[in-house]
Amino acid sequence: MHKCGRCGGSLRRIHRSFAEHFGYMAIYRCSQCKEKQAVPRPWTYHFGPAARCPICGTQRITKLKTRDRIDPMYRGFLSLVERLTNGQLYHCRFCRVQFYDRRNIVLAEEARTAREATESAPSAPTSV
Ligand SMILES: [Zn+2]
Ligand SMILES: [Zn+2]
Repeated sequence: MHKCGRCGGSLRRIHRSFAEHFGYMAIYRCSQCKEKQAVPRPWTYHFGPAARCPICGTQRITKLKTRDRIDPMYRGFLSLVERLTNGQLYHCRFCRVQFYDRRNIVLAEEARTAREATESAPSAPTSV
């Protein structure tokens, strides 16, 4: 039997809402202090610190403002979860697929990509 992390009371498993059903293995509520405790599903790609492509797992993805008309939408039920939890729209250029993720792109990765772009660009020669 699970115990409450706050008061040590016994936890009762409660019904999950539609969105919670996808996001959590189970949700418990303490019979004493009514503290709600959720057990998240162990999805590696979906519980890391940064947004990733759901197919190849790359973090080198681009943020989209609007849905692309050409590339298909990734339609896993995980994508539905991300959309329900106000996920941001992303695009993977390797898989050519769009998907939702509630996390942001890793900032270090973004900075590195930006630096690469500036370094590869030829500096304009100053003509005298
Ligand atoms: Zn409790
Ligand atoms: Zn990909």
